[in-house]
Amino acid sequence: MGHSDVAIIGGGVIGLSIAWRCAQRGLAVTVLDPDPGAGASSTAAGMLAPVTELHFDGRDLLALNLASAARYPDFVAELSSRTGVDVDFRRCGTVQVAWDAADLVALRQLHGFHASLGVSSTMLTGRELRAAVPALAAGLPGGLWAENDHQVDNRRLHAALLVAADMAGVTMVAATVAEIIMTGGDRVTGVGTDAGERFSAGVTVLSAGAWSHGIAGIPADVRPPVRPIKGQTLRLRGPVGLLDHVVRGSVKGNPVYLVPRSDGELVIGASSEEAGFDLRARAGAVYELLRDAATLVPELSEAEFVEVSTSVRPGSPDNAPMLGASGLDGLVIATGHYRNGILLTPVTADEIAGLIVDGTPSALLTPFAPARFARPSRERSRDSVAAAAGSPHFPRTIDVAASSTEVRA
Ligand SMILES: Cc1cc2nc3c(=O)[nH]c(=O)nc-3n(C[C@H](O)[C@H](O)[C@H](O)COP(=O)(O)OP(=O)(O)OC[C@H]3O[C@@H](n4cnc5c(N)ncnc54)[C@H](O)[C@@H]3O)c2cc1C
Repeated sequence: MGHSDVAIIGGGVIGLSIAWRCAQRGLAVTVLDPDPGAGASSTAAGMLAPVTELHFDGRDLLALNLASAARYPDFVAELSSRTGVDVDFRRCGTVQVAWDAADLVALRQLHGFHASLGVSSTMLTGRELRAAVPALAAGLPGGLWAENDHQVDNRRLHAALLVAADMAGVTMVAATVAEIIMTGGDRVTGVGTDAGERFSAGVTVLSAGAWSHGIAGIPADVRPPVRPIKGQTLRLRGPVGLLDHVVRGSVKGNPVYLVPRSDGELVIGASSEEAGFDLRARAGAVYELLRDAATLVPELSEAEFVEVSTSVRPGSPDNAPMLGASGLDGLVIATGHYRNGILLTPVTADEIAGLIVDGTPSALLTPFAPARFARPSRERSRDSVAAAAGSPHFPRTIDVAASSTEVRA
């Protein structure tokens, strides 16, 4: 049984980035994952889209998304310079295409909403749209230009985080966490694996994506209400330069996007299905994505088909993440990033590491306290859970100076 300052359940982009930041702050960190990168972090398209992902009800989430987008340039610059991994962060902007006149009206309303929030976007006429994206099908009535919605190669990002975590001294353990270990009824002191091994820790972070709900030992009122939302992406290889921007659209009501990498890879996404943990690729979803993408960009039909990838987004009841104290001493939750976990990686990593080291949640985290979903149980009162949302006593702060870990990143 090993002991760490911080044990992290899950080695997707969220768990790894928190591990990296915690190790940089002098903590001894262990990440447990049977197959890091096997989850949504590899299937994602890598859009960094605070504006084109904005819906009329998401103002708190917009603030978090914008904060993370603003941190992206420095985050990836540091990551790449430390690891030597180029994550293909492209400041390419996003074109949202209107399919028909009704779509154009909806985009105009969205544009007005953006303006009311001070978010930058520009309406495009049909002619301006074709000038911006010459590969688009003829006759589309117009669109919206989101100059600050960019992209990153999420697979390279994950690979870079693995290297960075290793360089910073993080211990990776290839194991499935079966349960959290509780001491004294209300304090989490580590995790147990399905092979019967135990790892003790001062703080345990639950960041197992859509699988976060299934770890045993977490009381019902604290267990994060994460649910799997299946998604499929396709990877094609087209002519380099076919698209210079991310293109999003809705073909006869079916949303589709195309994300062009620098090397000619094109990621097309994404289906959204309530199918539990069924990770089999569904032929109908592949067909519809190809059909709709090629309707917007006809030349796609000539591209090489490389891969279909399926995973599950970690959804939450309000589509926003759960970030912060759990209500159990020693357990922090960082999951539920749903459609925006790649975008939210920098802010999640910084703010959760800050919470663990300093013991208080930042103002950015407060609206996303996991306690907003807490249900009272017979064993534990609602007050004790609610107090955890902002308690300076939670999680137990770690004396970085006393930690034996050498900071190597
Ligand atoms: C089709 C699709 C497209 C997407 N596109 C975008 C996009 O363009 N932009 C964007 O920002 N976001 C996008 N997302 C969302 C994004 O991928 C997720 O929000 C993000 O990857 C969540 O990261 P995570 O680390 O929390 O979870 P995951 O990447 O799912 O990682 C969870 C990890 O936990 C591990 N694990 C599971 N159970 C256990 C256990 N018991 N013990 C130990 N480890 C365990 C798994 O092996 C996995 O490695 C997309 C998602 C999908 C599915």
